[in-house]
Order: sequence, then C-alpha cells, then structure tokens
Amino acid sequence: MRRTKVIATIGPASEDEATLKAMIEAGMDVARLNLSHGTLEDGLERFHRIRKVSADVGRPVGILADLPGPKVRIGSLAQPVELAVGSTIELAPSDGTEPSTPKRFAVDYESLLTDVRGGDRLAVGDGSIILQVVETHADHLEARVLYGGTTQGRPGLHIPSDRLRLSTPTDEDLRLLDGFVDVDVDFVALSFVRSAHDVRRVGLEPAPRGPLVVAKIETRAAVENLDGIIMASGAVMVARGDLGAECSIEDLPHLQKDIIARCIALGRPAITATQMLESMVSAPSPTRAEASDVANAVFDGTSAVMLSGETAIGADPAHVVDTMARIATRADQEFDYEGWAHQIKRDRLSEPQSQDAAVTDVMTMATWRAASEMGVKTVLCISRSGFTVRAIARFRPKAKILGFSPEERTIRQLTLSWGATPMHIDRIEDNASSVQHVLELAKTAGHIRAGDIVAVLGGSTATVGSTDTLRMVRCP
Ligand code: ATP
Ligand code: MG
Ligand code: MG
Repeated sequence: MRRTKVIATIGPASEDEATLKAMIEAGMDVARLNLSHGTLEDGLERFHRIRKVSADVGRPVGILADLPGPKVRIGSLAQPVELAVGSTIELAPSDGTEPSTPKRFAVDYESLLTDVRGGDRLAVGDGSIILQVVETHADHLEARVLYGGTTQGRPGLHIPSDRLRLSTPTDEDLRLLDGFVDVDVDFVALSFVRSAHDVRRVGLEPAPRGPLVVAKIETRAAVENLDGIIMASGAVMVARGDLGAECSIEDLPHLQKDIIARCIALGRPAITATQMLESMVSAPSPTRAEASDVANAVFDGTSAVMLSGETAIGADPAHVVDTMARIATRADQEFDYEGWAHQIKRDRLSEPQSQDAAVTDVMTMATWRAASEMGVKTVLCISRSGFTVRAIARFRPKAKILGFSPEERTIRQLTLSWGATPMHIDRIEDNASSVQHVLELAKTAGHIRAGDIVAVLGGSTATVGSTDTLRMVRCP
C-alpha cells in the first residue's frame, strides 16, 4: 500500500489517451499541466482528456494547473543547443514571440538590459546551466557559459528574484486561471510567490468551492515569509529548480526539509518537485542518487513526489511513474511513523485560526492516538471539504485513511493528500447514520472486514468545520 502520492507532468510525450491510461494504472494520482507551454486551449484540451481517461479507468485523478508566473523564458529553440563551458552567447530582450538561435537567445523580459548587470549569474532551464553576464551592450548582454549543457524548447532563464520587477500572479496568469476555474480544476499552482499577499491576490473561493492553491516556494523572499504563505495556501511545492538557482546549492536539501516540516505541521500537503528521476527522460532506469532522492523526500515527510520532464517529454512516461511509485512504496514502509507523529505533536499549529480549526486539531490528534494505541488498521474520515482528512494525515498514522466526501472536487483534491484514499458518499447525514453508511461503503469496497475495529471521525451535523465526533466501532 503506497501512502506518498505521485504527480506527473503531462506534455507531448504523455498526452495521448493510451499513455494517460497507462500512467494512471502505474500510479499517477495527480496530473500537472505546465501552462508555460502551449495556449490556454491546448491546456483545456489536455484537461478534458485527462478527465475522460480518469472516468474510463474509474479512478479519481486530480488535475493541477501550474501558472507560469513572471517566469522569464528564452524564445523557442528550433533544436537542442549545446552550450560549451567558456563559450559566449548573446542575450537580447524581446517580446516573447521571437525565436532564439544557438548564438543569440531572445529573452522575453523587456527590462533585461537595465535590471541585469555585469557579473550576474543566470540559470538556464532547471538550473544546471549557468551563465555569467560579462558585458552590457546597447541592445544585448554578453554572457559566458560557466557550467554547460544542452537545452531545448523554451527554457526558463532565472534572473535573481530581487532584481525582477514583475510580480505574481501576472495578468496572463489570471486569464489562464479563469479558464481553468470555469472547468472546475482541482489545484492551481502559483509560481514565484514572494508573500502571503501574492497568494491572496488570486482571490479564489476557499476549497472545495474553489481549487486548492499550491504556492511554489522558489524565491528567497518566499523562504523568509514561509509561515504566512503556507497559511494563505492550500498546499505548497518545493520547486527545487528555481529555488536552487535563488539560493546556495548546499542550502537546498535543508530548505527542502524545513519547508516540508512547516507545511505538514500547518496541515497542508507538501510536494517535492524537480529532477527527481531526471535521467529517466532518456534512460530506462534512474541513477542511484535519484532513487535515494525520492526515498529521502518521503523520509522528509513530503506528501507527494513530482515528475516534470520525465513524463512531459520523456521516453517512457508510464514506466517512470511505475518506477517512482515503487521507490515511494518501499520508502513508505521504512518511514519513522512514531518519530514523525511526536514531532508533529510538538510543532503543530500553535494558534489555530478559529475555534473550528482548534477542534479539528485536537480531534485528529485524538484519532491518531486512539488508532495507534489500539493498532487500528483503518480510519474512516467523513469530511465535506477534506480539511479534516488533511489534518489527520499530518500525523502520518500507520492506519489506512479513507476520506469520505459528497463533493466531487474534495474527492479529487484528496488525491494529493498523503495516505488518503478518496471515497464518495451521497450525502452527510446525522452522525449515527453516516457512520453506518461509511462502514458499509468501506466494507463493500474491500477496505475493511466484519469484526475489524475501526476509527470513524466525523461531525454531528452536515456543516463544514464541525469534526467533533470520534467513534471506535466494530465493523458489523
Ligand atoms: P517550471 O519552472 O514551471 O518547472 P520548466 O520549464 O522547468 O518550468 P517543467 O514542467 O519542469 O518545465 O518540465 C520539464 C521539461 O518538460 C521542460 O524542458 C519543458 O520544456 C518540458 N515540458 C513540460 N510541459 C510541456 C509541454 N506541455 N509542452 C512541451 N514541453 C513541455
Ligand atoms: Mg519553477
Ligand atoms: Mg521544472
């Protein structure tokens, strides 16, 4: 039984129905659409295809629309370009429509020449290629390749975020967001967030009426304002590509650990992203270091691990998903469940935002404690918005978590929550009938058997935020 969720980016290599189906069967829980590539219409077409294949397979798949944010990109390259160490290249400002050539990159940032100075280091793509600006000219910058490599498509150009004048969300982000909110997307990721204010500016209705907002932590400012950003968001992504370009590379593993720990303590899912199985873009098996990276992210407490180029443009997307799922399943078995729960009890929400949140906090802790002391194998959680399921997942109970909701969107949003199996119920009734109802559903689906002792966590009414009843019952 896998507890850690798998997110896969859908791109040219994975957008056909057969591949999507194979990826869902291999364990893809959430599909990510990177809206930096292609038009809104392309994105929506992929969106509807994923929904269709998910229905065909009969498994809920969450969809994450990743907004570009103020990401500066290099105009499209007709073919892969090899940047050799020590060679120089021209960087010219452009409006974003101009293509690049191997010697001259068109950069879609109009203030490039004023905001970037001699000596600045700029990272290309996910950060392995580093350029240093050596000279400023009237219409272009000249940069030397410090660390080389091959790049392709429309790679990002990382400009230190304190230099960048643009803020997130951009007008283009809001336009893309509207298109995806109209079709009830499950998650929206915001790039280059710097403060809680950036997150609030998207102005969405709280989940499940609106999508869950995923704040991508990839700027220095976001690391400084972390708690506020987490509290304003529904989930967080450790976006290691740009974050690794913003901070010292030796700090990155520790930032990953700190961000995940804070995020889970505050009851939000955390995603670890970028280059997790990068070599599998072309190779049939990952490097040893990559396999360890995935397992270590699980040990850090990540809720989900993410694939980018590996599935968007990789040689065998379904095989990569399968590989990641196997590494995660194995790491889940070795996870230090007891140690984690004790850490969360110490670090969890010190000042709950509301009385309802405080009740959910203590009720989920009581559920974790009762389930672990009695060795209960299944926790049934009735939750309209999914908030309670996410709150119980904080403790990483060994027991399986079944999350029941009448809201389709909550069910799809639970695909991101660590350890949670989303389940549909028609409606939330008074507590006694709801308990009977979910026991029957869980039994029919084969999750529990007659005679099993299970914990059922729910509310006494059908309103949101009233998780106040824990029952330990024997399955009839
Ligand atoms: P981000 O900073 O948001 O992660 P990225 O450029 O690193 O942006 P990823 O989504 O991480 O992009 O994808 C990794 C690789 O896959 C990139 O080389 C990108 O060009 C490619 N890719 C992803 N989605 C698509 C797509 N829809 N169409 C074409 N290429 C894609
Ligand atoms: Mg990024
Ligand atoms: Mg990336």
